[in-house]
Amino acid sequence: MGVSRNDSDETRLRVPQQTLPELCRDISASDFSPQTLCSIEHHQQPTSTPAPFERFPVDIFYEILRWLEPLDLLQCARVSKRCRAVTLSPDAKPYWAAALRNVPGLPERAPDISEPRYAFLVFERFCEVCGAEGQLEVSYSYGCRLCGKCWEARYPHGFQLMVGAFLSIDHAVFELLPIFGVVFDKFDDFEDAWSDIAAKRFISNLRYSKTEFETVAAKYLRLRSDKAALAGFVAERKALVLERYKREFDVLKWKQSSQRSGS
Ligand SMILES: [Zn+2]
Repeated sequence: MGVSRNDSDETRLRVPQQTLPELCRDISASDFSPQTLCSIEHHQQPTSTPAPFERFPVDIFYEILRWLEPLDLLQCARVSKRCRAVTLSPDAKPYWAAALRNVPGLPERAPDISEPRYAFLVFERFCEVCGAEGQLEVSYSYGCRLCGKCWEARYPHGFQLMVGAFLSIDHAVFELLPIFGVVFDKFDDFEDAWSDIAAKRFISNLRYSKTEFETVAAKYLRLRSDKAALAGFVAERKALVLERYKREFDVLKWKQSSQRSGS
């Protein structure tokens, strides 16, 4: 549901009475993923009387968004359907971008992660699927924030993925996927940190995305008879995986230095 600032107020502010999945689809391109929106809905407090600021004209609302920090924007999107529609509308995108830019030292978001989603990963405190708080795993390689109950099934151990058509697949296929929950011991230099991790890799006790494994492994098997095509696919995937590890490393390094400086 795009919220255009050129439309009349009545059109701009109307949030159709859709089911949540329909709403998620409407704003999927540059906003939260459906899972995240579901958890936002889960956390939303039912209110019978709109808060005073909810009755502001939409231009005033945007003026307020201009001054908010990433966590404020996230919380604003959780207040009500109207707040969410305005806060996650394409018109609000520059305010998210500015809010993220204003966080000292925060690494640039990856192009495949929207501004609200990046803010959610870095600043929120609950699981994107069930809304649980507490012990959460945030993966910047995969772009998810999940509790143990939710990541167990989605990110199984390597050996649990080697079943059915993938029973005897070459272990090298695991190098084409990021490890879920990778732990960096040091943050001085990415190459050093990564070579330490790579040396300890053992697929049976590492976790990977089930859906991504199935896609990558199926293509790997399909290309086995064409050596050149397989080599190209492997090189492309390895470059992508390295880029995603670098993204993870950069954000974790920033988080560590932020905690040390107490900001
Ligand atoms: Zn969960």
